[in-house]
Amino acid sequence: MKAAVFHNIGDLRVEEVPTPVPGPDQLLIKIGAAGICGTDLRILSNGHHRIPSGTPRVLGHEFSGEVVEVGRNVAGIKVGTRVAIAPNIGCGTCDECVAGWTNLCENYQAFGITLDGAFAEYMLVTSPAIEQGNIIPIPSTLPYEVAALAEPLSCCINGQEAVGTRPGDFVLIIGSGPIGIMHLLLSKLYGASYVVVSEINPLRAEQALRFGADVWVNPQREDLKEVIWSLSGGRGADVVIVAASSAALQAQAIEVTARRGRVNFFGGLPKNNPTATLNTNLIHYRQITVTGSTGANVRQFRTAVKLLVHSRLSLEGLVGACLPLDQVLEGFERTKQAQEMRILVTPNTRSEDRQK
Ligand SMILES: [Zn+2]
Ligand SMILES: [Zn+2]
Repeated sequence: MKAAVFHNIGDLRVEEVPTPVPGPDQLLIKIGAAGICGTDLRILSNGHHRIPSGTPRVLGHEFSGEVVEVGRNVAGIKVGTRVAIAPNIGCGTCDECVAGWTNLCENYQAFGITLDGAFAEYMLVTSPAIEQGNIIPIPSTLPYEVAALAEPLSCCINGQEAVGTRPGDFVLIIGSGPIGIMHLLLSKLYGASYVVVSEINPLRAEQALRFGADVWVNPQREDLKEVIWSLSGGRGADVVIVAASSAALQAQAIEVTARRGRVNFFGGLPKNNPTATLNTNLIHYRQITVTGSTGANVRQFRTAVKLLVHSRLSLEGLVGACLPLDQVLEGFERTKQAQEMRILVTPNTRSEDRQK
């Protein structure tokens, strides 16, 4: 089969590799769609501490597909089932795993990081993923491309749970890429009365407005704090989500948060420069709660799939270009340019079936 294999920093190759053969406790998935995200870009440019240098690894951790082979010991999953798969697998025994936070397990495994992932025609599913409930059947009404967005959506659910968005909240989302828009949609679903998006790229801002943002602020042209103060009656935002990788934006988030407001640092900072200077007096005197979140657990992934299956959220508009595997590097480049919606690889779609 064909697969996009990461060999080393800067070295990702589409090449012929043996099609995996599932053991008695494993499954084989035919990949429907796999999204390219910032994590993939970071692995290609910096490597990953869980991928030993020189170890070939098929990337791709946001994906969906069809079960095409089932090991004889696997119960309850049939050939032909369409599935979305939560990529993070915990050790199962540490305190975090026992508490349900497999995404915070120190000894996690993950498809596309420690295990071969979904930028391939087929992917092997190992037994811990099956036993921990990571395999979620999806109906034929949910396109593979949308189902592949369940993973980033589940991460946004994790961020939203951290700040506890509730009815009536005034929400500010800093950065309106596909992740910012997922936060916008979730905030509205959770009852936010008003959602403001701060974004410097007009193209992305327009998309946010189309997805239902109440106001777009361009912080290069307007003073974000002034705008938030005037829109919120001088209170500030109840919830601020920083959906961008920037220490300056993290600092700005604290400045515009209301008393007893909640902030989520959704995007991480670069590894070599992870320090932000924050006005902690604002946190102190306004009783602000500052949270972080990373990845999602299986419960949150299942929530994401349910919201998509029952159309409580419509992410069709977030599906950008769907590229063949041969163009995965182009997909990485376009993802880096950050001008488009989520770019996906659809390794088994014939060229005549490709719409975009
Ligand atoms: Zn991702
Ligand atoms: Zn664990």
